[in-house]
Amino acid sequence: MNSDQTKLCATPPIEKEAIRIGAPKTIAAGIPGVTVALKHVFKEMSLKTCVPTLFAVNQMDGFDCPGCAWPDPDDHRSGMGEYCENGAKAIAEEATAARANPEFFAKHSVEEMSHWSDYKIGKSGRITHPMILRESATHYEPISWEAAFSLIGNKLKTLDSPDEAIFYTSGRTSNEAAFLYQLFVRQYGTNNLPDCSNMCHESSGVGLSKTVGIGKGSVKLEDFYQTDLIIIMGQNPGTNHPRMLSALQKAKRNGAKIISVNPLKETGLTKFKNPQELSGWVGSGTSLSDMYLQVMVNGDVALLKAIMLIMLEAEEANPGTVFDQEFIKNQTADYEAFIADLKNYNLNSLSENCGISIEQIRATATEIMRHKKMIICWAMGLTQHKNGVDNIQEVVNLLLLKGSIGKPGAGTCPVRGHSNVQGDRTMGIWEKMKPDFAEKLKAYFDFEPPMKEGYNVVHAIKAMYEKKAKVFFAMGGNFLSATPDTELTAEALQNCDLTVQVSTKPNRSHLITGKTALILPCLGRTELDVQNGEKQFVTVENSMGVVHQSRGGLKPASEHLMSEPAIVAHLAKATLTGNNKTDWDGLVADYDRIREAIDKTIPGFENYNERVRKPGGFYLPNGARDGNFKTATGKANFTINQVAEHNLSNGEFLMMTIRSHDQFNTTIYGLDDRYRGIYNGRRVVMVHPDDMELIGVKEGDFVDLSSHYDGVDRVAPKFYVVAYDIPRKCIGTYFPEANPLIPYDKYADKSHTPISKSVVVRLRKN
Ligand code: SF4
Repeated sequence: MNSDQTKLCATPPIEKEAIRIGAPKTIAAGIPGVTVALKHVFKEMSLKTCVPTLFAVNQMDGFDCPGCAWPDPDDHRSGMGEYCENGAKAIAEEATAARANPEFFAKHSVEEMSHWSDYKIGKSGRITHPMILRESATHYEPISWEAAFSLIGNKLKTLDSPDEAIFYTSGRTSNEAAFLYQLFVRQYGTNNLPDCSNMCHESSGVGLSKTVGIGKGSVKLEDFYQTDLIIIMGQNPGTNHPRMLSALQKAKRNGAKIISVNPLKETGLTKFKNPQELSGWVGSGTSLSDMYLQVMVNGDVALLKAIMLIMLEAEEANPGTVFDQEFIKNQTADYEAFIADLKNYNLNSLSENCGISIEQIRATATEIMRHKKMIICWAMGLTQHKNGVDNIQEVVNLLLLKGSIGKPGAGTCPVRGHSNVQGDRTMGIWEKMKPDFAEKLKAYFDFEPPMKEGYNVVHAIKAMYEKKAKVFFAMGGNFLSATPDTELTAEALQNCDLTVQVSTKPNRSHLITGKTALILPCLGRTELDVQNGEKQFVTVENSMGVVHQSRGGLKPASEHLMSEPAIVAHLAKATLTGNNKTDWDGLVADYDRIREAIDKTIPGFENYNERVRKPGGFYLPNGARDGNFKTATGKANFTINQVAEHNLSNGEFLMMTIRSHDQFNTTIYGLDDRYRGIYNGRRVVMVHPDDMELIGVKEGDFVDLSSHYDGVDRVAPKFYVVAYDIPRKCIGTYFPEANPLIPYDKYADKSHTPISKSVVVRLRKN
């Protein structure tokens, strides 16, 4: 342990700034969106770099936005720019002129930086050199690449078992880097490949695989323009996937209706001004949601059951007029069992459970019954609960009743929050090893892949905490701040002998470390990647299964940066000994060779190098999209799912953690949450005014939040109370500030996704 570790701050410190509260905004984007985006860009970048960079983002021959995974149009790309306010912020963060160079690290100790806010840490700039924090040292110091790889390789070679090392991946990693990374890890001998997907859409993957045979969404962007009805559940696209608003606008103009289901009334779901259009500057904007159901946190299964119960009544009164009986008969399994279970429920108790009135539920069911083609979109609001998998399966039940999958304008749409999180899983970043993939890797690379299941994120934290894992290597991300149970996770990381972070900018995971820590600085998406004297490109997969190129054009932030594929190759050469037969140098010298290997080992990537060079890339196969359900029954499966019960006692609340508008995952762009009217601070708790009165607090008071699970008390002190339009008994807080309250060992059944959206907490005046 470093000498300063007892004084280190693992959680964001209590803010000294004065928080300001205004009215939530009623319109998303428009002129304010453009103004804020430009403000961020000009603060970080010169005019010379920002203009070509912004015109290259998400273009056919440009680079993929490092933000979310919302897809680009298949054909035409806007000449005005294919990015949103938060995409511009993400680019400004990466292409900043600020530098965290050796002088910066010599000036600021690890302990000092740990007391900075996440915002301030992130504004330190791009890391320019490989850095090491030696055992008991107070400051990082530079280290050569050669010495860094040799240190990691020697440590990995001397572990008692490869299973004592953990290799984490964040959703930024390209297909090429991810493929090489999993190949190295498996040649090393373990499947310890936790990734950020474990914490977000793992519940979607599990639920969709069981019910429709593929753990990804089934719709294309084009389906939004052909559908009758879009239901958006537990998702805030205005902040987290902003260009989705343009798709919703176009869907509305084509006649679609939109129903939003969310505890908070989010600005992005109410009205949108498209800055790409004249009307977005001078008009009054497009109303998006036709109906808005402010469901209680985790009330979704109850709401869906209530809707389907009303639909069942109507179907039984006039058979064949509501449900798609032909689809149900030919393409689904377990319909009868599902209906028998549904009949056990009572509308009154379902309404009470979800917090939506019977009148509203009836109106919603009527709207759904009117339409034939329906898309259901969702995000973390459905997945991060104990019953996260059940939530997804219940969504599928509704789609199956309407036959609304496997045809144009209909299907599932889990929207991914990080640009290549879906692609990384496709490339084999997973703690599980599929036998057919193992066979292909064995044949192509001539080694025996391990088959034992590795650690997911929850298991990785446990293994480090119990000192069963000694090395933690992170390909991107900010593990400490992204994971639950911050204090325990900090201790887990500090138990390691060595922690390594492949990063572009400093974050809190560089400060709460193992006994020795390394930072390996890598190229960003915006930057030129030259190997062997030739410009390379990488590829990524978006939320709708399109694989396409990404070519950075900026001069790298430092001549000492390495690309992620090159880092993996050096790591492999320093670690794998004996008869390793992979030509790591050859693979990295020309990324076409990595894609050739992917072509031969992963289904759907045939002629990868040729097809990915076509403008816009190509779609991966998707059985559910074509009505071909590759499940155990060979059909789409109805499932029986339970209504979530929380039985809150007096004084208990259900807390959901959310992002602010100035935030992308753990990256904090600024201190404002403009759409929600919260400024200059992040340590806030949103509470219904009646609940505030009940517990005797008023807006502007400070409260401590606490949770109590299995005899362990967790406290997050000093949150500013904001009166907010949120269902009774529910509260909202930002992560990572509230992460210390979430027990790492409470997660979704079957998917291990932490329960970050339904944590039982109490509030006490500070
Ligand atoms: S919608 Fe997502 S991918 Fe598109 S520009 Fe915005 S943050 Fe980037």
